[in-house]
Amino acid sequence: MMKDFLYQGMPSRVRFGRGTVSEVAAEVERLGCKRVLIVASVPEQAEQIRSLVGSACVGVFAGAVMHTPVEVTETALAHVHRLGADGVVALGGGSAIGLSKAIALHTDLPQLVIPTTYAGSEMTPILGQSERGVKTTQRSAKVLPETVIYDVDLTFSLPLTMSVSSGINAMAHAVEALYASDANPIIDTFAELGIAALFRSLPKLRDDLADPEVRVEALYGSWLSAICLASTSMGLHHKLCHTLGGALNLPHAETHAVVLPHALAYNASKIDKAMSVMKRAMGGGDPAGRIYDIAKNSGVPVGLRELGMKETDIDVVTSAVMAKPYPNPVPLDAQIIRRLIANAWGGTRPD
Ligand code: NAD
Repeated sequence: MMKDFLYQGMPSRVRFGRGTVSEVAAEVERLGCKRVLIVASVPEQAEQIRSLVGSACVGVFAGAVMHTPVEVTETALAHVHRLGADGVVALGGGSAIGLSKAIALHTDLPQLVIPTTYAGSEMTPILGQSERGVKTTQRSAKVLPETVIYDVDLTFSLPLTMSVSSGINAMAHAVEALYASDANPIIDTFAELGIAALFRSLPKLRDDLADPEVRVEALYGSWLSAICLASTSMGLHHKLCHTLGGALNLPHAETHAVVLPHALAYNASKIDKAMSVMKRAMGGGDPAGRIYDIAKNSGVPVGLRELGMKETDIDVVTSAVMAKPYPNPVPLDAQIIRRLIANAWGGTRPD
């Protein structure tokens, strides 16, 4: 029988399709903004939309970087105040969107975000920030973007390995939502559809990075999975990636792609229902191994050592993970966690 549950919807306006970025000026106006700052990670991305935003753009800040360091936010905030900006338009991956959210946390300015990766930050009220090697996250309604424009055409340029690792990052949101302590049937439905869409589309990117049907499915799957991230509490996989990203500054999407198969294998014995949903979404097989294979077959690094992590950091990360216990289907055991991290470091396929 279905258990009682709580579902908290997130109030954002979403446009999804191809060529939808052409609606950016109309959406800025709809937010009531007349002086927006465009934020991005690279100037070329910012310039892509400057002319589309038109006279409502008062400036560009193209200095967003991964893990939202507080010093970058301070510089961007100085631009906001100097320009008298009344809104933020962010174009790019989770780094650009993270900066936009950090600005909103301090100013409560409305945000219009245009994601170009599959990271999913656009749908969440979560902000992760880093300061002197420590990454912290917080939830606040202030940081949830008011408007999201998904334009599939903007994802064609995302290189293969970044596309697949970012897609596995998206899949991780849906996977962990299925066994979250606050899971619910609405989110389970999004998660299953999200995993299925990503599982179908990611392997096909090897053949053609600009196949519109494949890119539509990948972006759609990422959106559904991002809703899962926004609405449930994540477990071991996210905590591990968070520790690796904050302490060792490892790249976000690639770290998720390496860790997910191992975290899933760790939890597999206690998540029967989630495993059967994943198997249904993937058309059978062992979910952990099949995710590993998607990464490996696309040339995505499968070991943390390939991302620059030193072997001596295995113990550092184990201690950091064990220092802050949190709910997870299989309780955390230092020895087994160490083995998980060592396997992820070496890049062995989970069995
Ligand atoms: P990213 O935004 O740093 O992008 C990775 C690289 O891809 C960058 O060099 C970027 O310029 C490039 N790129 C982006 N889109 C491109 C495109 N379409 N074509 C070509 N190149 C493109 O990385 P990410 O993985 O998207 O985001 C990671 C960040 O997002 C981390 O800081 C992470 O903590 C954060 N994040 C936050 C949440 C949340 O809910 N708060 C969720 C997911 C990720």
